[in-house]
Amino acid sequence: LVTSKAAQLSGGRAAVLYLRHEETEECRIAGVHGLELPPVQEGAPHFFNAERSCGLPAFEQRAVRRLAAAPGENFELPAVQNLRFTSMLAVPMVAEGQSIGMLVAVDKEGGFSAADERFLALYASQAAIAVRNSQLFEHTKTLDRLKSEFVAVVSHEIRTPLTSVKGAVELLADPRYFPNNEQQTKLLNIAHANAERLLVLINDILDFSKLENAALPMSLERSSIAPVIEQAAHNLRTLIEDRDIQMDVKVTPGLPDLYIDASRIAQVFTNLLSNAIKFSPAGGRVVLGAQAVGGEVRVSVGDSGEGIAAEDLPKLFRKFTQVDSSATRKAGGTGLGLVICKGIVEQHGGKIWVESKPGVGSTFFFTLPFADRAAAPGPPPDPDAAAPPVSRAA
Ligand code: ADP
Repeated sequence: LVTSKAAQLSGGRAAVLYLRHEETEECRIAGVHGLELPPVQEGAPHFFNAERSCGLPAFEQRAVRRLAAAPGENFELPAVQNLRFTSMLAVPMVAEGQSIGMLVAVDKEGGFSAADERFLALYASQAAIAVRNSQLFEHTKTLDRLKSEFVAVVSHEIRTPLTSVKGAVELLADPRYFPNNEQQTKLLNIAHANAERLLVLINDILDFSKLENAALPMSLERSSIAPVIEQAAHNLRTLIEDRDIQMDVKVTPGLPDLYIDASRIAQVFTNLLSNAIKFSPAGGRVVLGAQAVGGEVRVSVGDSGEGIAAEDLPKLFRKFTQVDSSATRKAGGTGLGLVICKGIVEQHGGKIWVESKPGVGSTFFFTLPFADRAAAPGPPPDPDAAAPPVSRAA
């Protein structure tokens, strides 16, 4: 686009855009218009040293105009092999005071004028900013990808020894093999609980880094939601009992089947339920629900906790976000759980959102489409139904 516009604006037959390599200071052809360039041979030098190239202004930030002195005479352009030109106008591409390359228009009958030069220089200054922005964007994307790969590798490497530490502690704490006294048992239990906590964190980070790059690996199977909810709730029973939480389960019997990765949906449910427990006062109440609504199963996890302020709701499904991120916050966590839940639910074709009222509690919902939509019982939900008296965000 840059070169075709440059040729058009200057009246040249063709144009070439050279860009500098940031580190090596060399130039290469980034785009051409109106020229047939042979494909770059594999292994052939792609860059050339701009300082040694026929007075082109890559480093000097000045324009150069050139016209063949006599009829029949012609000249070459750097890195453009086997083609010869009779006139040229080269202007620097300058962004933030730095030369990032040059834009060259060639072959205008009678040569390029001073007005062409001013016009093309003005155009190049705008084009340089756009090119620089896209270079920076690409650079940021590369760094982001490298960061995700690094995080994925490190988390994976940490997980393996951590799993074996946890296994060893479990074995040590087993009275069938090691008769421990009360204090030893207490210390081993602390070590075990913390190894488990670290594993949860590492797994979250690993899932998150996978989600950032692509989708999470899933294996979808036709299955019912009820056993997934029951199993996940059962797994958290110690936490529920410890906090003296009262749990009500309202799952409509005989819900249609879904296409789900049961372990991933259990992960979503476990995350929502452990948040509900974590943010509820001791002795609080948690309500789990699943019902059919317009071709989907809607799962809900409600708590009687502190609730979330309306202004904080939009932040919840963003990475590393915790409403209370102070060092003194009561509840631990990475702030990644809800982002991962959102990724998993959306990969299943569902939605996730929260409704909350400060001081009263929060309810997190997610939906999953029926495996067989035809099985949808009842009419779809009425969009005009009275809005709940709560704030919501997805
Ligand atoms: P984590 O719990 O690991 O910090 P999450 O992504 O699961 O990360 O949750 C992000 C934040 O959302 C929590 O730190 C908390 O501030 C808020 N939050 C989540 N669930 C609830 C809830 N049931 N009640 C109140 N706040 C919640």
